[in-house]
Amino acid sequence: MSRRRVCIVPHTHWDREWYEPFQIFRLRLVDLVDGLLDLLERDPSYVTFLLDGQMAVVDDYLEVRPENEPRIRALAAAGRLTMGPWYILMDEFLVSGETIIRNLQMGMARGAAFGGTMAVGYLPDMFGHVAQMPQLLRMAGIEHAVVWRGVPSVIDRSAFVWEAPDASSVRAEYLVVGYGNGASIPDDAKALVRRISDHEKEVSSFLLDAMLFMDGTDHQEPQPWLGRVVAEANDIQDDYTLEVTSLGEYLSSATDEGLPRWVGELRSGARANVLMGVTSNRVDVKRRAASAERELERRAEPFSALFLPAERWPGRLLDLAWALMVRNSAHDSVCACSVDDVVDAVLERYAEARQLGEGLAQRALTAFARSLAEPGVVALNPSSHARGGVVEIVLPGESPPADTQPVSEEAGAFGIPRGLGALTLDAATVRTILGMLPDGSQIDTHTWIQDMSVGEDDTGIDVTIEFGSEERFDVPISSFKRDLYTRLGARPDSVVRVRIDQPPNQRVLARVADVPGLGWAPAAPSALSHPVRVEEATGSSEGAVDLSMGNGLVNVAIDRLDGTFAIDGLRGFGKLVDGGDHGDSYNYSPPFSDGLVDLPEAVNVTVLERGPVRARVRIVSLYRWPERVDDSTRARVGERSVEVSTTLELRADERLVRVAHSFVNPSRDHRLRVHLPLPNPATHSEAECAFSVVQRGLDAEGRIDERGLPTFPSRRFVSAGGLTVFHDGVMEYELIDTDDGPQRGARTLALTLLRATGMLSRLGMAYRPLPAGPITAVEGLQLQGRMIEARYGVCLSCDDPYAMADEALLPLEIAYAPGGGWREPNGSALDIEGAEVSAVRRVSGTLEVRVFNPTGRETTVRVRDRSGWLVDLRGRTISPFDGSFSLGPFGIATFRSPEP
Ligand SMILES: [Zn+2]
Repeated sequence: MSRRRVCIVPHTHWDREWYEPFQIFRLRLVDLVDGLLDLLERDPSYVTFLLDGQMAVVDDYLEVRPENEPRIRALAAAGRLTMGPWYILMDEFLVSGETIIRNLQMGMARGAAFGGTMAVGYLPDMFGHVAQMPQLLRMAGIEHAVVWRGVPSVIDRSAFVWEAPDASSVRAEYLVVGYGNGASIPDDAKALVRRISDHEKEVSSFLLDAMLFMDGTDHQEPQPWLGRVVAEANDIQDDYTLEVTSLGEYLSSATDEGLPRWVGELRSGARANVLMGVTSNRVDVKRRAASAERELERRAEPFSALFLPAERWPGRLLDLAWALMVRNSAHDSVCACSVDDVVDAVLERYAEARQLGEGLAQRALTAFARSLAEPGVVALNPSSHARGGVVEIVLPGESPPADTQPVSEEAGAFGIPRGLGALTLDAATVRTILGMLPDGSQIDTHTWIQDMSVGEDDTGIDVTIEFGSEERFDVPISSFKRDLYTRLGARPDSVVRVRIDQPPNQRVLARVADVPGLGWAPAAPSALSHPVRVEEATGSSEGAVDLSMGNGLVNVAIDRLDGTFAIDGLRGFGKLVDGGDHGDSYNYSPPFSDGLVDLPEAVNVTVLERGPVRARVRIVSLYRWPERVDDSTRARVGERSVEVSTTLELRADERLVRVAHSFVNPSRDHRLRVHLPLPNPATHSEAECAFSVVQRGLDAEGRIDERGLPTFPSRRFVSAGGLTVFHDGVMEYELIDTDDGPQRGARTLALTLLRATGMLSRLGMAYRPLPAGPITAVEGLQLQGRMIEARYGVCLSCDDPYAMADEALLPLEIAYAPGGGWREPNGSALDIEGAEVSAVRRVSGTLEVRVFNPTGRETTVRVRDRSGWLVDLRGRTISPFDGSFSLGPFGIATFRSPEP
């Protein structure tokens, strides 16, 4: 019998932040890398070391030890330190597809400074893998993946062909028992051979030829005796040939023969935990992630690329924002299976990235407004889909024109309330106010100072300020302020009479007609084809008032008894079901004695707006939820009352019903879901994930160590049985109320609004008996006393979920143009059809656009008046195009185009 090759790959798995915050783990990282560099330099038998496939490890170290960069560079050049390809080992389901791509691009760019990155898609610990990953890797020139979690039971070999929906594939090495199968190599040759032999028995049915022995685990230090003990082990036996090697070396000679094949995502718990409950813990993190992604991907980047001259592209600032996003994408970071210090840091990074996005988007919008030739109010469409929509605009006059509706709360108030038209103040107060005022002329998004004057007489100082909706940037505000300071200084006891001249105007809701994709049009109120109305009628059996809102396209009727609503006669939407959760940050687990609460004690319904442009109804439901799960009896105990406010909104000419729930979470150890009935029984769901929609059945593979709970992540929308739900932030859903029988099908989609547990990991859970991390109490996971908000929309028979997701989550923008620019009143900055747009940005002065085909049919992507070349994720040219190119089923493409 020939000897079996045993390929030992020394590595460490470096969770940058997890059960310790970043700075604490980094202290350990610096020690580890200090020792590793010495070891590699002094001991050539310690052939190579894998730095966990992520460049963050290198940067985090060099920030503390910049003097060691040449040593790392030399070891990398000699092939003894393996770099990248990722910047960080991200979670693939909780972040956008763009975040995954930017992560890979950041890692490859940073790794280039060290002579290049490993051509292996190393994905050792992610909690499952998205369907399009093979395509993303191939687009970066990578033909191998290495995976562990999520691999289904039908894969019975240590490698398989993993195929994306577009039919591109990689060879996936399967770490059958994880990335630590060769961790902690003993300093004893006999013991090492015994370990290898035992492991060979454990995985023998999987082995194709050589055995990959991954020598490392979480935060593990290298064993300096490795080279010696491997040599000794080779000398004392004839069964194995041990070699210390790199992952790339091992894979370059690994067999491609006889591999099983798998198409699509990897989310099975057949042999390893997929930890599906991370989707629903710390719902605040998921919402902040989505809002930062939206600001960067859908506003700051496209607006800056399309409306600023190429030389004003804010590349460095966007790089800073993306660095925050990519760091947060780490699997223990966005997954929030971490201590509170870590989650606090994650929230802060998302806040900063969002602020950068908002600030940059606003600058580009200002440039856009000034570029228009005609003055006026303009609607700008950040989606590539042409569409109309409801906007809030400020119009001159005091009576709303036809087909508009006054904005109720803020009527008459913008910038400075009407009642403040004339004020008499003392000099000291005016000086204080002056010190706080900026020198710009803008008061709010659509109010600018038009003129200012100051005068005085024996009785006091007179200040007149004129407001208007025309943008002015030539008003000499700072010299006016200096003048006023001088007068106040000379007469400190004087009164100051302030007069604000403000032409009559009004804030109204209006529907604007079609605005081109990534384009603009005058924001003129258009005639409403389907105005929305609220109808109240007495006469139901209980004597209650029936309340409904409808627009001829969809009807929403509120049930005043239980606070739910019906859509087109289908009842039971918005039913809130609260149950116990004795799980942890990784997994839901019901308590032994669950007390479900699904009926409110009282319901109060208020009409907020009555149309014709927008109708809104608020339902306030009073519940009593158990207070917590008792740790010894594992039953829900105690009682807390809570008011859940649900706002339903319907707009003219739209079929989407918008829903928002908010409440202050009073309880611990519980899971709150909203039930949404399906028009037809469903055997599967279709949920958006990175660059794709994935179809999932009613079951999930699991095992005794982790129940296969069919709760799944959805990025922005999920459809089942004729219902589509659009939601803000990645959310967890499950198809429930399943009829077993010849026509098996689920009748309800449950959406998780909150999952509150107090443990990072736990022992002895009903659905996962063994811990998945340190057994540590983490108070923040309870979200107790915190305002919880969930925003989603529901639509029956939605035929274009991508377009409607933009309608639900990416509103039309309003700009007030001063006039005097060059741009036409109506147009598109990037007219593109035939595919979804994922990114619009500038690279090396050119416009770079990424699109994907969400359908199973080949498509022609038409890009009006643009030519250029298709590129891969490394920016290498694939082929030229002129005006259009074809894109295969489920394909992703990136093109660059110089200015026309
Ligand atoms: Zn990890």
